[in-house]
Amino acid sequence: MKKIPYTHQYIDKSDIKAVAEVLKSDWITQGPMIKKFEERLASYCNAKYAVAVSNGTAALHLTCLAAGITKGDEVITSPLTFLASANCILYCSGKPVFADIQQDSVNIDPKEVKKKINKNTKAIIPVHFAGQPADMEEINRLAKRYGLLVVEDAAHALGAEYKGSKIGSGKYSDMTVFSFHPAKSITTGEGGAILTNRKDLYEKLLSLRNHGIIRKNVKLFGPWYYQMQYLGFNYRITDFQCALGISQLNKIDSFIKRRREIVSIYNKELSGISGITLPVERPYAKSSWHIYCIRLKAHSRRKDVFEKLQKAGIGVQVHYIPVYWHPYYKNTWGYKRGLCPMAEDYYKRVLTIPLFPKMTSLDISFVIRTIRKVMESI
Ligand SMILES: *Cc1c(COP(=O)(O)O)cnc(C)c1O
Repeated sequence: MKKIPYTHQYIDKSDIKAVAEVLKSDWITQGPMIKKFEERLASYCNAKYAVAVSNGTAALHLTCLAAGITKGDEVITSPLTFLASANCILYCSGKPVFADIQQDSVNIDPKEVKKKINKNTKAIIPVHFAGQPADMEEINRLAKRYGLLVVEDAAHALGAEYKGSKIGSGKYSDMTVFSFHPAKSITTGEGGAILTNRKDLYEKLLSLRNHGIIRKNVKLFGPWYYQMQYLGFNYRITDFQCALGISQLNKIDSFIKRRREIVSIYNKELSGISGITLPVERPYAKSSWHIYCIRLKAHSRRKDVFEKLQKAGIGVQVHYIPVYWHPYYKNTWGYKRGLCPMAEDYYKRVLTIPLFPKMTSLDISFVIRTIRKVMESI
């Protein structure tokens, strides 16, 4: 039977060749490909600096360290996200504070963010859900007013645009984080990056990626000399991963174009099906469409629909269980149900259906036909 996953990487011959070439070279890690990938990323996003790291979670962790988040600090983020957006705050002993989402974009709502700001608030981490940019102008305005740092969790949003500027350009934030997990816009297997326009943050991030080491006073003490200035980590990425990243970046525009084509077919063909609501792209957003999430009008049928689609060979998923519902958050921090009603309601209804550049038109019509059949059957 035909089975379509909800996501799949796109790897071609040029990717394999790029990786193989590095494997045959002298440098498979800490070599020249890392800088090359960083330069390509920064230039693609119109940012000054990029730091490539081992994964998106490590990238988020480093942004919180570079931001100086520590015990007693509060950081506001979305409850509708992957755990990493909030865990990175906990890694630095900060407190994650959840602000509810907007009904249409399902991104963090600036009005809710404002309500959560107090004297302990240090930063805001908006998440560009499904590749649609959050309302960055409003978020940035709040940050400026209250002296907060903004870190964009753009794990879903490489290639997306907000009011005509690329996500990653840093026009409305201090740092932007990407992930290169195979489910994301481009892949390096595991991998991530931080983009910034601030030289001070860039230098700190570079050092924190490598144990907090910096090279200075070499002339005074000798060519071997280095010193550890901060408590950093080994969050390095390899050269062969960066070679894959460069090769993938060559294709990103065609990836996004194909994703947007599939979305416009879905929008047209699924709009007539009763019982579901389709995702909305706001006028200021050009989404990179990391995932396509439909909502069931009757949330009591979600499990039934999920299982029927799965049985019919359609890869489905749920993005996401509200972060603070997880036992660790509940038990350690005392977060209660009802904290973010919009996000909780969304979670009960949402269903992610297949969307990836490699989908054929047969795959697309199979998905549409099956959803129609299942929705008629319930
Ligand atoms: C994937 C993802 C991450 C983490 O990325 P990894 O590379 O898997 O560590 C962070 N935030 C969001 C919203 C994600 O989807």
